[in-house]
Amino acid sequence: MRVPYSSLREQFADSEAILRDIKGLLETTQFTLGPAVARFEAAFARICGARFAVGVGTGTDALFLSLKALGVGPGDEVITAANTFIATAGAIVAAGARPAFVDATDDFNIDPAGIERAITPRTRAIMPVHYAGQPARMGAILLIAAAHRLPVVEDACQAIGASVDGRLVSSFGVAAGFSLHPLKNLNVWGDGGVIVTSSEELDATLRLLRNHGLRNRDEVEIFGYNSRLDTLHAIVGNHLITEVEAITAARIRNARALDAGLLPLAPRVRIPARHANERHVFHLYMFEADDRDRLRAYLIERGVEAKIHYPVPLHLQPAGRRLGYREGDFPEAERQAKRIITLPVHQHLSQDQVDYMVEVVTDFYGTGSRR
Ligand SMILES: *Cc1c(COP(=O)(O)O)cnc(C)c1O
Repeated sequence: MRVPYSSLREQFADSEAILRDIKGLLETTQFTLGPAVARFEAAFARICGARFAVGVGTGTDALFLSLKALGVGPGDEVITAANTFIATAGAIVAAGARPAFVDATDDFNIDPAGIERAITPRTRAIMPVHYAGQPARMGAILLIAAAHRLPVVEDACQAIGASVDGRLVSSFGVAAGFSLHPLKNLNVWGDGGVIVTSSEELDATLRLLRNHGLRNRDEVEIFGYNSRLDTLHAIVGNHLITEVEAITAARIRNARALDAGLLPLAPRVRIPARHANERHVFHLYMFEADDRDRLRAYLIERGVEAKIHYPVPLHLQPAGRRLGYREGDFPEAERQAKRIITLPVHQHLSQDQVDYMVEVVTDFYGTGSRR
């Protein structure tokens, strides 16, 4: 049996309605911004329970422009996780600031105690990542941010629909960045991003920043960028946004079935604790495994496209080392990098595919016995 990591072909097998709307665009020729983008922004704000959503070019830009709008620049530090996708740190560097990395806890999310320790007089913002689709520990993080009067920008690129005690991600910080990249839970046919905020002032600044700082055709309020959400992608997004709940529910269902199948393999397999008050939306289904590299090879040989997110934490990448970080700085992230593995969890998995993955992992460790 084959279990591919993503299911883009199935997802877009029937795209007649989307193509019809794209054809409609040829009649209006409103190829940048326009009503499709405005409609998508309104729908996105609604599903986040926020006042505003601003469509931008990528998830990376959503984070970068949020920092720019807050005035972050050269000489500043922004605190973030050592174990995240490179774009989180890249957005901080693009704003001219220095990423200050923090270690992970055993659920793969940023450690609030580490955030507290990383604060210096140069710290200008905290950028927690809702990693894998699990909300970061926002209660503790917001307390630290308030005590030090630091704005929080959430990296929610992996976490659309995630919540804590019923409170959705993007409602904790002053702004949150989302990605519409094809591999994300809500995706379009290329790159796209969204910034969510409930601050009228930030919304206004972000709309300027994404469109050359233009107040209107002839007046430039501030120097900005060209980072608009493509109208074509907004059209795709308008079709898919109605499916977010179903996509999320399917991913959660698959993750529960994987949890149930893999938990008996403890301690060789370690599934992070699941919390009843949290809604983890499983952008990634990640766990720790003994003998990880051999397990991954075993899965791949048997058709399961397992991945590693990520084999090298950011502070140990050449780019991170150039900031002065070394081995041993973030022991938990370093330990996890050697043990984590990601299984497919997408919404088009069949029950047979889920059962098969459990079977292959179980076989690897030798059913009920030690190897
Ligand atoms: C995908 C992702 C981004 C960046 O999104 P792009 O749309 O690819 O630019 C940022 N942070 C995290 C955690 C991501 O997973």
